[in-house]
Amino acid sequence: MYTYQVYPPPQGTLLPAQQRRQQNPMRASHYFMPTLREAPAEAELPSHRLLLRGGFIRKLAAGVYTYLPLGWRVIRKIEQIVREESDRIGGIELFMPALVPQELLDETGRSGLDILFRLKDRHQRPFTLGFTHEEVITDIIRHAVSSYRQMPLLLYQIQTKFRDEPRPRGGVIRAREFIMYDGYSFDADADALETMYQKLREAYIRMFQRMGLPTLIVDAEAGAIGGGSNEEFMIIASGGEDRVLQCDKSGYAANAERCELPDPKLTPPPIEGVPPAEKVATPNARTVEEVCAFLNTTPDRLVKTLLMRVDGKPVAALVRGDRELNPYKLMHALHGESVEMLDAETIQRLTGAPVGFAGPVGLPADLPLYADYELRGLQDFITGANEADAHLIHVCWGRDFPEPIWADLRVAQAGDPSPRHPEGILQEVRGIEVGHIFQLGTKYSQAMGALFTDAEGNQHPIIMGCYGLGVSRCMAAVVEAHHDEDGIRFPITVAPFEVILILVNPEDASQRAAAEQLYESLQAHGVEVLYDDRDERSGVKFKDADLIGIPIQVVVGRAVQDGQVEVRLRTDKTPDKLPLETAAAQIAERVRAMKAAYQPK
Ligand code: ATP
Ligand code: MG
Repeated sequence: MYTYQVYPPPQGTLLPAQQRRQQNPMRASHYFMPTLREAPAEAELPSHRLLLRGGFIRKLAAGVYTYLPLGWRVIRKIEQIVREESDRIGGIELFMPALVPQELLDETGRSGLDILFRLKDRHQRPFTLGFTHEEVITDIIRHAVSSYRQMPLLLYQIQTKFRDEPRPRGGVIRAREFIMYDGYSFDADADALETMYQKLREAYIRMFQRMGLPTLIVDAEAGAIGGGSNEEFMIIASGGEDRVLQCDKSGYAANAERCELPDPKLTPPPIEGVPPAEKVATPNARTVEEVCAFLNTTPDRLVKTLLMRVDGKPVAALVRGDRELNPYKLMHALHGESVEMLDAETIQRLTGAPVGFAGPVGLPADLPLYADYELRGLQDFITGANEADAHLIHVCWGRDFPEPIWADLRVAQAGDPSPRHPEGILQEVRGIEVGHIFQLGTKYSQAMGALFTDAEGNQHPIIMGCYGLGVSRCMAAVVEAHHDEDGIRFPITVAPFEVILILVNPEDASQRAAAEQLYESLQAHGVEVLYDDRDERSGVKFKDADLIGIPIQVVVGRAVQDGQVEVRLRTDKTPDKLPLETAAAQIAERVRAMKAAYQPK
């Protein structure tokens, strides 16, 4: 049975709850804002705790959240900002299905991704839940766009995405069901894509400014897709998952996955006098620390040998013992499109030893050997011996094994030299990625046959860009950037309400009358006001007001006797007294001025 009520109700007979709500749209006494005294222990990030406690979100399952009414109002404001700024640069909104036939992802080789939620319809046909929509939009475009005259084109949607994240975290920061803005651009040549990309970049800067989110734009790793420019918008937060490196002398900033390092052009130390390489037993010592402890040396005298597979072919990579290999750098050095660790079996076959004992001496001659730039300045080092429980000491490249191909291979870290300024040093901060803009090129159009005809009648794959922004993640990012020990401090542009009107003593007739009147006139002035008329102690109301973070607090209390109300900001509690008669107009003016401060020039 789907319905058990007569609907609509006969004219004039509203159910009691409906009636209440119609009369009292934004009275806290009838609103739905279930706050919590305490957030669950699992909530580590301030934004997660505050959004739970303030009654903005509620968890249904790991990484699956309801947006409660307050949270939903924030989401809708963020959406609206994103929509307006996209429309401003000529974007056109559409809405694609969340149900995506698996065969569409087969066309680009993405149907096997771990991140996908999968399901079958009643005929056993496989579907996925949309995790991003490149394939869906490209399918539309290949049937609808055939001429250069139909471009440039920018289509976007704001929609729920599904990703079976291995580690959902931080509430809506990394959820398994989340709201994303995703835009896709279609152009006929690389210059047009560049122009489009710059427009999106500008639009993103404006979006985040309007949300009150201070972002840092960083170079990002394109991974397998390659293509042109590719940048992420980060907010700096100590609880962020992304490591960001920033040059202290130039504007360069990059995700650690991407961050380049300059070639230090080191001079190789002389090898005359270095004793011949010698095998030493290192029983049970596998890790760098264990080997160092055993041989009484330091990790910078060790060279790690990592066996990887790039585009299906094995390759060996050397980095210093105290460094990490950046697999993407290795992939780029080989102009490859995919990279992974070699499996244990292949490692055993290539080195003759179990995993953990590989070394560069005696590897198959046809196995490409790459080494990080830094190792050019190192000789007489320690490596694995391609034999269980053994290492080689006094190893020299160019003597004991052929000179490798030098490349930038290691993960950058704080203190490393900047790739963009001769005296620059990289600093590390933590970031939360709120947006990502990406020149895709022809990866999807080529795979899916989305072609257009140019002015001369020749066919080419369409040149694409894609632009993602985490709408629901932004709500958390805003809280991460704007809070104190008492609660959230929303920028007025994304606050659930602009003003909270606090009636201190509901029993007091003059206070109540003044508050009711102010509530009406604020609404008449177009102010979004939440009226806390609850029958609660004033202390509770003040605490809740601070917790939910509405930027302007209007207090109707004892001062009413002198015809006054108190106005204060969530960020600056110094009260300002306003005469009751003009309060609504003055507050409305203040709201306008505060909003204008977020408006880009
Ligand atoms: P991440 O590296 O954080 O997993 P991603 O690079 O895979 O994200 P994109 O495909 O670039 O994400 O998605 C565009 C935007 O969507 C991101 O910049 C981020 O703001 C948001 N987003 C991505 N994954 C999630 C998630 N699991 N929960 C909430 N927002 C997300
Ligand atoms: Mg991304």
